[in-house]
Amino acid sequence: MSVESAPDPSRPVAATPLARLIARRIADSGPITVREYMTLCLSHPEHGYYRARRAIGAAGDFITAPEISQVFGELLGLWAAVVWQQMGSPAPFQLVELGPGCGTMMADALRATQRVKGFSNAARVVLVEASPVLRDMQRQTLAQTTVDVRWLAEAAEIKPAPTILLANEFLDVLPITQLMREGDGWHEITVELDVRGTLTFGSKAACWREALPSLAHAAPIGSVLELRDFAPLSETLAAIAAGSPLGALFIDYGHEATGFGDTLQAVRQHRSEPPLAAPGEADLTAMVDFEAAAAALTNGRVMVERLATQAEFLGSLGAIERGSRLMSANPARAGEIEMGVARLMSPQGMGTRFKALGLRSSDMPTLPGFPQH
Ligand code: SAH
Repeated sequence: MSVESAPDPSRPVAATPLARLIARRIADSGPITVREYMTLCLSHPEHGYYRARRAIGAAGDFITAPEISQVFGELLGLWAAVVWQQMGSPAPFQLVELGPGCGTMMADALRATQRVKGFSNAARVVLVEASPVLRDMQRQTLAQTTVDVRWLAEAAEIKPAPTILLANEFLDVLPITQLMREGDGWHEITVELDVRGTLTFGSKAACWREALPSLAHAAPIGSVLELRDFAPLSETLAAIAAGSPLGALFIDYGHEATGFGDTLQAVRQHRSEPPLAAPGEADLTAMVDFEAAAAALTNGRVMVERLATQAEFLGSLGAIERGSRLMSANPARAGEIEMGVARLMSPQGMGTRFKALGLRSSDMPTLPGFPQH
């Protein structure tokens, strides 16, 4: 990202209701941080992106793995069933999903596991969803299920119990702090107003005083570093693992190792747009730094598996075979099924851009789909 010091006359004046609200707030009390900006864009009670709109799917703004192919949710369901058996088939246990979107992945997972003896009877589904609109959609998608489903507004409300937790494209919506290296140290990037009253990037005058990853010390001037606060999630997982078995799976797009670069991106109607262009009306995400996530989410009670690419993970669970079986059973849809699986596994696309992070309580063996340590 280039931090703009002069106004750019070619830039359209942002005109969403949230843009006006943010501009007023900055005019009254000064610049806000990127983290505050991202939080407002996604979660503002009235205008936040996930509060008000149907974001996901062909008719929405972006498409996710469960919407591309039913194989995704089915394999995650079967993964959960094997983890449950590794736990000694506890009954009841909670099957938690963070940020379930349209509810498609859970519906596919529950359908695929119907015949796993005892699994559906033991499962208590817990959906952690901040958006009332998406909650309604999830309720509709899961209307047919016989499994008990409950909703929580945030992960911190999850109760300790034997737990299998799934999350696809959840970590990327957790707000980031962006820092830029300047001559005298690191400065937090802010959102401020230019002379025309349009939202623009700036940076805080004072240097960043909190902890930084070790590679930050050798960074060239102009480098951007992104930090995410995984601490609340880490505490939740540790509290579960303190007294119960835990298996957790986070799939998201991101880097294997901490690096530099501005990855904040806004997407609307399947097209990328400048992150300040339409606050509240575009999805706003940033790549997951899996090195930082693994370090923050592990502790004496929670262990991490070796990171796998989505292609490695789904491949080892039998994505190709499951796709072939579905194609034989539905010849009229064979082309679509094949294309969906190919897209999830694509070596130049989702197959490698997306990674699977596995976490487990220290009493559990290596989770399925991950290489042995
Ligand atoms: N997992 C789904 C949706 C991904 S979009 C899929 O793969 O299709 C991100 C999801 O996280 C949405 O359901 C959004 O409403 C939810 N979400 C975003 N921030 C959240 C928060 N802080 N707490 C709970 N849910 C959140």
